[in-house]
Amino acid sequence: MPKDSTRRDFLRVAGGATASLAHGATLPLIALDGAAQAAPPAAAPGELMAGWFDRPMRWVQLTLVENDPGRFDPQFWLDYFKRLHADAATLSAGGIVAYYPTEVPLHHRSAWLGSSDPFGTMVKGCRDLGMHVVARTDPHAVRDEVRQAHPDWIAVNRDGQPVRHWANPELWVTCALGPYNFEFMDQVHREIVARYRIDGVFANRWAPQGGDCFCVHCQQNFKAATGLALPRTTNPRDEARRQYLEWRTERLIELWKRWDATVQAANAAARFIPNGPPSMKSAGELAAIQFTDNQARRGLTPPWNNGRRAKELRSVMGRRPIGGIFSVGVEEPYRWKDSVQSEPEIRLWVAEGTANGMRPWVTKFSGVLYDRRWLPAVERIYDWHYKHERYLRNEAPLARIGLLYSEQTSRYHPGVVNGDRADDHVLGMYHALIEARLPFELVHEGYLTSERLSQFKVLILADTAALSDAQCAALKAYVEGGGSLVATFASSLYDEWGQQRKDFGLADVFGVSFNGRIDGPMQNSYLSIDPDPKTKTHHAVLQGLEDATRIINGVFRVDVRPTREFPSPLTLIPTYPDLPMEDVYPRVPHTDTRELYLRDLGRGRVAYVPWDIDRTFWEVMSPDHGRLLRNVITWAMNERPIVEVDGRGVIDVTVWRQRDSMTVHLVNLTNPMMMKGPLRETIPIGPLTVRVRVPNGLAVRKAHLLTAGTTLQPQQAAGTMTLTVPTVDVHEVVAIDLEPARR
Ligand SMILES: [Zn+2]
Repeated sequence: MPKDSTRRDFLRVAGGATASLAHGATLPLIALDGAAQAAPPAAAPGELMAGWFDRPMRWVQLTLVENDPGRFDPQFWLDYFKRLHADAATLSAGGIVAYYPTEVPLHHRSAWLGSSDPFGTMVKGCRDLGMHVVARTDPHAVRDEVRQAHPDWIAVNRDGQPVRHWANPELWVTCALGPYNFEFMDQVHREIVARYRIDGVFANRWAPQGGDCFCVHCQQNFKAATGLALPRTTNPRDEARRQYLEWRTERLIELWKRWDATVQAANAAARFIPNGPPSMKSAGELAAIQFTDNQARRGLTPPWNNGRRAKELRSVMGRRPIGGIFSVGVEEPYRWKDSVQSEPEIRLWVAEGTANGMRPWVTKFSGVLYDRRWLPAVERIYDWHYKHERYLRNEAPLARIGLLYSEQTSRYHPGVVNGDRADDHVLGMYHALIEARLPFELVHEGYLTSERLSQFKVLILADTAALSDAQCAALKAYVEGGGSLVATFASSLYDEWGQQRKDFGLADVFGVSFNGRIDGPMQNSYLSIDPDPKTKTHHAVLQGLEDATRIINGVFRVDVRPTREFPSPLTLIPTYPDLPMEDVYPRVPHTDTRELYLRDLGRGRVAYVPWDIDRTFWEVMSPDHGRLLRNVITWAMNERPIVEVDGRGVIDVTVWRQRDSMTVHLVNLTNPMMMKGPLRETIPIGPLTVRVRVPNGLAVRKAHLLTAGTTLQPQQAAGTMTLTVPTVDVHEVVAIDLEPARR
């Protein structure tokens, strides 16, 4: 057990207190003997689970390679962990290679192991540093001797052939859903936890790898569960395919529970931690702690993608600890695993995770280093994190905007037509929110409870096409309760399995009905910016666009008819020839077909955009579309944002509550390499003017900048604090110490 197993430890248990936390309530404190706890009590999704999980703030992972034993220097790594102020380590233990003297038959000991026990050495060293230790296993491949002894443990492709490993043909890919994992790896996990009494097991690549498996066990088990043969189609709208996807998820959840029970039987305080839950919903239900394995960006990836993964995970984990695994290398498909990335790139990637509530977890392959340039870079990041830990122990985000996160839409809705992809709508909306500097959260479709939704003033459905009747009802109740809704394109036009409805599930909330037609891809179509015919003024959503008589349209549109009266700020200019140039003139210069439906509904507001504004924004990045999205969202929100930031640059703004403080994170994304890394250098921005609404009943005791290390002299008026941040290099945090307001 860790250093403090005898210490009477105070664990915080958040009793569904997210809402009250936003107003400054202190969490109840209960005393538990951490080590003496038997099976920890269950917790509702999002609440902390009793145990050690919330203690570590900084994680490290060392993944050994087979010839490391005898070649790598454990003391070097332990000294480095100490300099990082790391609280927890994930260390290679077993699976493909065992780094300890295993007794499990067919569990391959490293050929370089001899009589050594590098895993045990590292476990002891970490414990001496007071760290928690989690064992890393990787079950996805085996040697030929295993295949010979148990041919049925190997994955089988659709041609009935056993699957060789794609990167190392000497190895075979295992079936993740059969006895190799359920029996053999179960034994391995039992041995590791029983022998070393570690805090958990983290399995890498534990779900099916490299395509569907057609082995005898998968055939039999799927048949027993569904009565069906394994489907050969990958079309998610195929009934058998859908059942297969659901069965595979259930099977992995079963495996998670099996390994978790085994691990807990060997050490009640320990847990099985999957690298990648079978579904986000299952993480919300089962995980005490969880990590995103999003190690760096590749290709055309914006840096905010790391923050996005954090938001996705938090949408089911709530207050439970989450970590962001980052590598220090180049993460392109060519997998230069021994490479080192530029320091500005690493800093920005980790800052995005930290600003979005993830704890850093640096991962390094190979105990022997070929390029040591990353060592001081990561040390600087961790040192900053350690120094400011108090302001990084977040209790609740204070964002008032929620963007719906729909796994079922990603899984079962490939898009309305070729060229449309639901995820592109989400990416476009995400980028628009970042550019608008509006703090927001992701809201998982599985947790649309009134308690969860009540923290948000506006919910955004970025083409959330697949929604069940119950989910539509929850959204309707949210609007009836005073919440606002912004929805785009095919939102609610499909059920949770991706089957198209006759009309939107939210037709009565939108105030429009589906006309049965989806147009596009449209060439050369526009939107007319129309003043109100009576007042001759433009609607608030057109702010900044008044002098444009028209802006470009999107590429796809859902044809709808209004079922009530609407204002008409934005109307369709239909597509007209874009060649030959002589023919390029509008055939219909103006229509009364609205392309934006705005309504007040009780205390809430609803905006429905029937075209793919978010998807086109992602593809084309028109600043007009970005502005329009920002205007529509702020109109729907109908209250001042909790934080407003003025000044130049692209900034991810997040805002958090801690126990006695609140923080505003400013991550500077402004860089010519913003959309295509890696960064060459950081380019500071500033000064920025930041206005913060102070939560009701609280007053500012002190405000300071964590990175600059300076105290601020904020101006305060009417519950708003205004301050100047002179410069932001990569990441600055405005930390505001709070106290009860004097009456
Ligand atoms: Zn199989």
